[in-house]
Amino acid sequence: MKEEEIRPQAIFDEYLRLAKDDTITYFADVENVSVGCPACGKAGVVSFEKSGFRYEICPDCRTLYVNPRPVASAFSRYYTESPSSKYWATTFYRETAESRREKLWKPKALMVSDVIKKYGGGNVVIDVGGGYGLFAEEISAFIPGTPILIEPGPHLASVCRDKGFPVVEKFLEDVIAADLPKGPKVFVSFELFEHLHDPGRFMRHLYGLMSSGDLFVFTTLSGTGADILALWEDSKSVSPPHHLNFFNPHSVQILLGQYGFEMLDVTTPGKLDIDILVNNRALIKDRFWDAFVTLASDADRQRWQEWLATSGWSSHMMVVCRKP
Ligand SMILES: [Zn+2]
Repeated sequence: MKEEEIRPQAIFDEYLRLAKDDTITYFADVENVSVGCPACGKAGVVSFEKSGFRYEICPDCRTLYVNPRPVASAFSRYYTESPSSKYWATTFYRETAESRREKLWKPKALMVSDVIKKYGGGNVVIDVGGGYGLFAEEISAFIPGTPILIEPGPHLASVCRDKGFPVVEKFLEDVIAADLPKGPKVFVSFELFEHLHDPGRFMRHLYGLMSSGDLFVFTTLSGTGADILALWEDSKSVSPPHHLNFFNPHSVQILLGQYGFEMLDVTTPGKLDIDILVNNRALIKDRFWDAFVTLASDADRQRWQEWLATSGWSSHMMVVCRKP
């Protein structure tokens, strides 16, 4: 898979440009709160600053995270009304929906159905941050129950309703048990965790909504993934104000343990690290990766991508856990 297929460069760069302006409009003058490592709580070490956001790294578990972070209300405002959020929810999604369906959502639906076969969890899938309902449509091919979406954005929520899915139009943190059906459930969330203002609060609330035996399957960026480590502050994935938390296969287990979840599996099934490095060759600081992307054959690139993915060092991470 190529980065261009799911993130056409011109559209993605325009989105990043709007987002950069928005960091000033929505965050320059707001109050900030100081936080420790979102995984283990230790004080972080300053690594770099980007668009007015300071990124720190945890010396113990290597989580990369924004500290201090603007108060939660600034993010709510940003996500509901900013130009870059609107661009993301309309132009970006519209232009990329069908290629993302093929390249991202079909494989994800297959992976999640395999997880459900292996670990149980029932036939009701709850998609937290369901976006355009593409995953819900694709998982329906594998799982008999109708998926339910938790989607706070009014535009996205109405798109999903028009597709015939039940929608709880709230942030997960505001959902109550009565909003969801009884019985076994599989909660999923994709590319949401890196955005969370308070991952601990999210996990605590989710745990309260889950019954014993329910699964939570999520994907997020790993801060120890190859392209992120090699590009670091120049990585387009390190994009404030969106991406605040970069857990990794090690630190996410610390987080889950703290909130009582039973870790079942953590993998990095990413496909793009090497392609992202090739596309950003001029920004690579490390001599090994610079030489690699300049000289390696297509076959070498593919072998290394597979190796990164299977050994846990890709930047796309999938976590499977259960409420015991
Ligand atoms: Zn830590």
